Order: sequence, then structure tokens, then C-alpha cells
Amino acid sequence: MAEQLPIKEGLFTWPAEKPQLLGSRCRNCGEYAFPAQPDCRSCSGQDTEIVELGDRGTLWTWTIQSFMPKTPYASDESPETFRPYGVGYVEMPGGLRVETRLHENTPEELRIGMPMQLVIEPFRTDASGNQLMTFSFKAAGEAH
Ligand SMILES: [Zn+2]
Repeated sequence: MAEQLPIKEGLFTWPAEKPQLLGSRCRNCGEYAFPAQPDCRSCSGQDTEIVELGDRGTLWTWTIQSFMPKTPYASDESPETFRPYGVGYVEMPGGLRVETRLHENTPEELRIGMPMQLVIEPFRTDASGNQLMTFSFKAAGEAH
């Protein structure tokens, strides 16, 4: 039976009613990382723990990806079906900035500092028919 599987383990809680982004936090100096890292970038300590980063942040910076990225961009899209999308950094409550795809795809919809909400959605279908799920962010409060 086809399932919805995370595209990569450990990026977000899944399956979950209210998915959270997962990262790591250094027990020594408190530095956060996403994706989770076994070593701390800040103090080189190796005592890190997996933590939930939350599902909301604010838009720190963004751009519009207007052409199809080169491999290993493995979606179901072709250059003919590709549609531009936003990419940006969302600052999470701990201060960590997470690089993410954005739902919004025109400059008019995006503003630095706007509140953003985590979304888990299908990215592509694998050979067994499973839906591979990835994360992105959309403007918080936007109608679905
Ligand atoms: Zn550290």
C-alpha cells in the first residue's frame, strides 16, 4: 500500500498531526543546527541533542527560483511543467535560520519579517508508489 514517507529521516516529525521541524541543539553552548548535526559548529562539542524547532518562524530573506535547478533536483517536474517557486531563510524562535522552499512564488507575496508556517507536502512519488513528503513554509494565516 502506498504510504506518505519523509523524503529524508530526521528533518521533521512525521507522521504527526502538527509536524515540527527537527534540528539539533548543543548541550554545551546552546547553538542550534538544521538539519541536525552530531557536532556543534560553534564550539566543536559533540554533545548535541535532537530538538523540535517548532512550526513557525519569520521570513529572514528570500528569492524566486525562476528556472529548473540542475540535478540532483529530483522532482516529477520537467522543464515544460516547472513553475517558479520562492526560496528563502526562515528564522525559527531559537534564532536559527532554515533554508526552505516557500509556497509563495511572486515578489508581491513576500516581505522580510513576515510570519511563516511550516507545511509538510508531497514532493514526488517513488518507484513503489509512495509519496515522498518534504517541508516548506507558507505565509502564516494564508488560506489553504
Ligand atoms: Zn556548542
